Amino acid sequence: MNADVVPTQEPTEATRYWLGVALDVPLAGLFDYYALIPVNAGTRVIVSFGRRQMVGMVAQVKAAPDIAPGSVKAIEAVLDDIPPMSDDWMRLVSFAARYYQRPLGEVMLPALPVALRKVASYTGKGARGGPVARADKSKRKAAAVCAGDAPPLQLNPEQTQAVQAVTAAQGHQTFLLHGVTGSGKTEVYMHAAKQVLAQGRQVLFMVPEINLTPQFEQSLRARLGQVDNPDLLAVLHSGLADGERLRAWLRIARGQARVLLGTRLSIMTPMPDLGLIIVDEEHDTSYKQQDGLRYSARDLAVWRGHDLQVPVVLGSATPSLETWHNAQRGHYQLLSLTQRARAVQLPQVRLVDTRRLALEHGFSPQLLDAIKARLAQNEQVLIFLNRRGYAPVVSCNSCGWVSQCPRCTAYTILHRTQGGRTHNHLQCHHCGYHAAVPRRCPDCGDQDLRPMGRGTQRLEEHLAEWFPQARISRIDADSTRLKGSAEALFAQVHAGEVDILVGTQMVAKGHDFAKLGLVGVLNADAMLFAQDFRAPERLFAQLMQVAGRAGRHAGAGEVIIQTDYPEQPVYQALLKHDYQGFARYSLEERKAVGLPPFAYQALLTAEARALKTAVAFLSEAATLPDTAPELYPTSEAVTRYDPVPLRVVRVANTERAQLLVESDSRPALQTFLATWSADVAALATRHRVRCHLEVDPLEI
Ligand code: ADP
Ligand code: ZN
Ligand code: ZN
Repeated sequence: MNADVVPTQEPTEATRYWLGVALDVPLAGLFDYYALIPVNAGTRVIVSFGRRQMVGMVAQVKAAPDIAPGSVKAIEAVLDDIPPMSDDWMRLVSFAARYYQRPLGEVMLPALPVALRKVASYTGKGARGGPVARADKSKRKAAAVCAGDAPPLQLNPEQTQAVQAVTAAQGHQTFLLHGVTGSGKTEVYMHAAKQVLAQGRQVLFMVPEINLTPQFEQSLRARLGQVDNPDLLAVLHSGLADGERLRAWLRIARGQARVLLGTRLSIMTPMPDLGLIIVDEEHDTSYKQQDGLRYSARDLAVWRGHDLQVPVVLGSATPSLETWHNAQRGHYQLLSLTQRARAVQLPQVRLVDTRRLALEHGFSPQLLDAIKARLAQNEQVLIFLNRRGYAPVVSCNSCGWVSQCPRCTAYTILHRTQGGRTHNHLQCHHCGYHAAVPRRCPDCGDQDLRPMGRGTQRLEEHLAEWFPQARISRIDADSTRLKGSAEALFAQVHAGEVDILVGTQMVAKGHDFAKLGLVGVLNADAMLFAQDFRAPERLFAQLMQVAGRAGRHAGAGEVIIQTDYPEQPVYQALLKHDYQGFARYSLEERKAVGLPPFAYQALLTAEARALKTAVAFLSEAATLPDTAPELYPTSEAVTRYDPVPLRVVRVANTERAQLLVESDSRPALQTFLATWSADVAALATRHRVRCHLEVDPLEI
C-alpha cells in the first residue's frame, strides 16, 4: 500500500464507525463495514467483498449496522487522494439510481473515472502514489493553438432576448431554445456561457458526439474569447484514454477548468461551481445510454439544474416531442429563433414520388439530373442513405435462398473489402458474425447469387461509374473505423477535395459544409416503417438535420427526398420546414392513443436460450403484483401489456422478449417500479433468465 492509503488497524476496544458502502455489484442495497477513524460519506474505501478486494464508496455513515456487529468487517483502506464527493453529486447519482431502478453502487462507481475505482491502481508496483498522483505528475499536452478569438458578433434581437432570458433566470428554469440549423443557437449558448463564466461559475456544455467534431473545441474557445487560456476548457467523451479522461475529470472536479464540453457521460461529473447547463441537439438519441444504467443525460441535466437551482438550456431545431410538450404547457420556457442568422435561405425541399418511376440503381432521373447540375456548378453533393455495407442481403436467383446470420434472426449484409484485390464478405450487424460469400447457393447449388438492395458502398460504386470525373468519398461506420479517419475524411470534405459525399447518419451531425448545394435522400421510407411509434419523429429530425447541411453559405440549397409515400405527414411537414405543424400533428396523435409524452413507460427485456423461457418469465413478472397487491399500492394505475418477442428475436444465439408497463402518472409508475424491479430481479434468478429494466425507453 502507498502513501495515499490510510491503513486501518485491527479492532481493539476502539470506537467503530459504521459505514454503508456502495459497491459495483448487481445487488440492491449498501454493505455494512466499519472503520476505526471517522470517514465521510462520499469517500472511497477499499473493502474485501467475498474473496475479492473492491473499491467502494461510503454512501452512509450509520449509528449501527443492519447485521450483527460481530460479523461486520473492517474496511481495509481509505482512499483520500481526492476529497469526498460533494453532497450534490451524491444526490445526483442517488436520484439516477432510484429513478432508473439500479443498485446505488452500480451507478456511483461507474460514474467515476476507471482508475479511481480499481483496487489495482492503488496497489502493487505501478501504484506510484495512486492514480491521482500519477495524473498530476504527467505533463498535460498544451492545447493546440488556433487562429485567435472570434470577432464579437452583433446578436440579432431574438438572440439577444434569448441570452437575456437565460442570464436573468433566478434559480432554476429550463429553457427550450428552438431554431433551425444556422439560426444562431450556438451564438446564444456562447453569450450566456460567457456571462456565467464572468460570474465565476462553471458551464456544462453537452453535445451528442465529440469524436467527429474536434474543430468544435477550437471554435468554442474562439467564441468564448479565451483562446490562450488552456485551463478554460476540459473535454470528456468515451473516446479518451483512461489517463486523459482522469486528468480532464480532475481539472473540472477541482474547479480548475471552467467549461466542460462533453457527451452524455459528462452529466455525472462533479462540478463545484456549476452555474449553467447547455444540452445542444437535445433530441439526439445518443443522450440515452443503451446499456448498464440506461439513463437519459438530457433528463438528468434538467434534474441536476433543478437540484442546483441553475438554468438549463435545451437547444434543437427539432426538439423531442417530450421537450416540446413541456414547453407548450409552460414547464419549460420557449425561446425561438425564427430566422437564419446569416442571410441564407433554407434549402428547398423536393419530394420525388418514386411509385411509378423507373429507378436506376435506386436513383430517380430527377436526382441524377440535379447531381449533374450541381457538379457542373462546382458545388458539393451529399447522398444520404442510412444503411452501410454493399447490399443488405445476398440472394439465390433460382431458389430464393437469402444470406442469414446463423446466430441471429437477421440477414447478413454484403460488404466489399477494399484490399489489394476486391473481395467480399458477409457480416451480421447485430452480432458481428463474419463469413465468406458462398460460391454457390447452399440450398440448390446454383452459382447465380446476387446482391439485393443497396448500401452506401454500392451507391459509391454506381456514382463512380456515372460521374467518373467526380471525387467521391464515403463516410459511415465502416470507412471511419480507424481512429482519426473520420476527422481526416471530414477535413477533405471541408477542404473542397470531395465532390460527392455518400454517408449514413454520421454525416448529418454538426458539420457545416460550405460548398454543399444538394442533398439526396434515398430509402427514407425504410426508416419510417421499420421502427416503433417514434420513427416519424426520428425521421423528421434526421432529415431536417441532413437538409440543414445544404447551402449554409452559398446560394439556394436543395434537398431531394425520394419516397413512395409523399403524402405522409412527416414528408409534407419537411416540404414546409414546418416543425411546429409536425409537432402539433404528432402530439395530437400520441394523445389520442395515450403514448408518450402523455404516458410514462418502462420496458422489461428478458434474454434466454429459448424464446419460450423468456416469455414465461415475463408472463410471471407481469402477474407478480397480483400475488402481493398490498406491496403495489399503485398497480391499478399501471398497465401491464403482454410479453412480445423483439423484432430481431435472436441475437448471438440468445432469444429476447419484452414486456411494456405504462402509466399516465409518473409517480404511480415510479412507485410500482420500486417494488417490481426488486421482485423481478429475484424472479430472474429463479428462472435463470437475464433481464434488464429500462425506464423511459426510446425504442420499443
Ligand atoms: P446554430 O447553432 O443554430 O446551427 P450557429 O450559432 O452556428 O447556428 O450560427 C450559424 C452561423 O451564423 C454561424 O456561422 C454564426 O457565426 C453565424 N451567426 C450567428 N449569429 C449571428 C449574428 N447575430 N450575426 C451574424 N452571424 C451570425
Ligand atoms: Zn438456390
Ligand atoms: Zn448475427
